[in-house]
Parts: sequence; C-alpha cells; structure tokens
Amino acid sequence: MNKKILALLFSGLLIISAALTGCGGNAKDDKVLKVACSADFAPFEFQEEGNKEYQGFDMDLIRALGKEMGRNVEISNIAFDGLIPALEAGNIDVAISGMTINDERKGKVLFSDPYYESGLTIVVRADEESIKGFKDLEGKKVAAQIGTTGSKEAAKIKDCEVKNFNVISECFMELKAKGVDAVINDKPVNDNYLKKTNGEGVKALSEKLTSENYGMAVRKDNKKLQEELNAALKKLKDNGEYQKIYEKWFGGASK
Ligand code: GLN
Repeated sequence: MNKKILALLFSGLLIISAALTGCGGNAKDDKVLKVACSADFAPFEFQEEGNKEYQGFDMDLIRALGKEMGRNVEISNIAFDGLIPALEAGNIDVAISGMTINDERKGKVLFSDPYYESGLTIVVRADEESIKGFKDLEGKKVAAQIGTTGSKEAAKIKDCEVKNFNVISECFMELKAKGVDAVINDKPVNDNYLKKTNGEGVKALSEKLTSENYGMAVRKDNKKLQEELNAALKKLKDNGEYQKIYEKWFGGASK
C-alpha cells in the first residue's frame, strides 16, 4: 500500500469516527442516559470521602436499569430542589433521588412506577422528653431539607418555626447544636444516619407520619422514557435483580 492510499484511508476513518462520536460530543448521543441525583441522601445516593463514585440503592438501581435498556448512565449531582428544574430545562433525562411521587410534582414531571416504599419520621435529641410524637411539635423548632415532603409536613404544624437546610446532614447538625428541637425526614435515611452514628446524641421516634412512594422523574413530554424505565424496572423485579440490590442496601425482603 502506498502512502497516499494510507493517508486516504486514515482520513476516511477519521470522518467515520467523528460521525459516530457526534463530532466531539456536540450531537445528541441517544445511548447516554443523563441522570441526576442529590448525592446527600444515604443510603439512596451519596459519595464517600476520597471516592468520587456515586453509591447507594438508587445508584445501583439506575445503573442496572440503564444496562437493561442498553443505555450508558451518566450521573451528575444537583441539589434536590434543582432536580425538577433541570429536567424541565432539558439538562437531564432522569432524576432519581429518593423523590416522593406526589400531585404537586406530577403537575411538572412524569413519574415511573413506584420503586421504593418510604415515609417520614421525626428525629430528636436523645435526652428529649417532651416530644413523643407529631402533635408535640406545636410551638417547637423543626429542621427539614428544602423542597422536600418533610419540609411540607413541618409547615403544617401550628406555631412551629421551620428551618430549611440545603442538605439533611445540616439538619442533624442543627439538632445536635440545639438550634432546633426536631428533624422531619425520610425514615430509611434517618435510620441509616442513626446506624452510622451509633445513635450518638439523637433518637428516632417510632411514629410514621406519612406513607410515601419513591419514583423516578422524567420530563412531561418524555412518555417514551417513562415507559422504558417501567418496562426495565418490571424486568429487574421479575428476574430478581431488584431484590439483590434491595438486600445489599437494606437487608431482608423487599415489599
Ligand atoms: N422523599 C423526600 C421528597 O421527595 C425527600 C427526598 C430527598 O431529600 N432526597 O421530598
């Protein structure tokens, strides 16, 4: 082969590969599923110190769903109250972030079928005697994460001062520093926090305030993706993969 032919072949290859990769990533790559979470919600989505990889139940689930759908999952970290705006702006395809399916959000996004059953509980300081349930929060100070169902529930309490924080770890810090009397947040995340900190200084009340279902959110006009996610979720439930992921993070059988 002479040099000219080689050069021609080479430039041909370059053109083909540029076309395939979308000329440096400008063109839309349908294989990539752009996912976002608010990585501050262990055991659903979090990062460990010194390890950039997103971990948690939601993270394993969306990666398994992506694999089932033949899509490369690309995960980014967006504050919880910025997830729905990011979907609406078309910056991401899916939000998975321990997000409760509710009517208010259904007005803005489409949800997948429920993939996890959750609910809210109250965390107080270990030496707290006066708060035994939701009704005792009247006239008290409560911390919650901004834009969450916990924050909404707190806002219903009479004469209660609600302090909203960007992330749930700040709520627990405020509780320990006695800036608030209680934290309202999702039960599995509260339980995980108590386990990780050996319940040091705080305790969770047994009363469950709500029953909530988590769903993955997609853009209103993306019914196709909603259906694909539902089909893949069903597949993972049928083939035992969902169960494996559930047991890894929560032990025991899923509902
Ligand atoms: N499940 C709650 C909600 O949807 C909290 C979610 C979260 O903080 N990641 O509002």
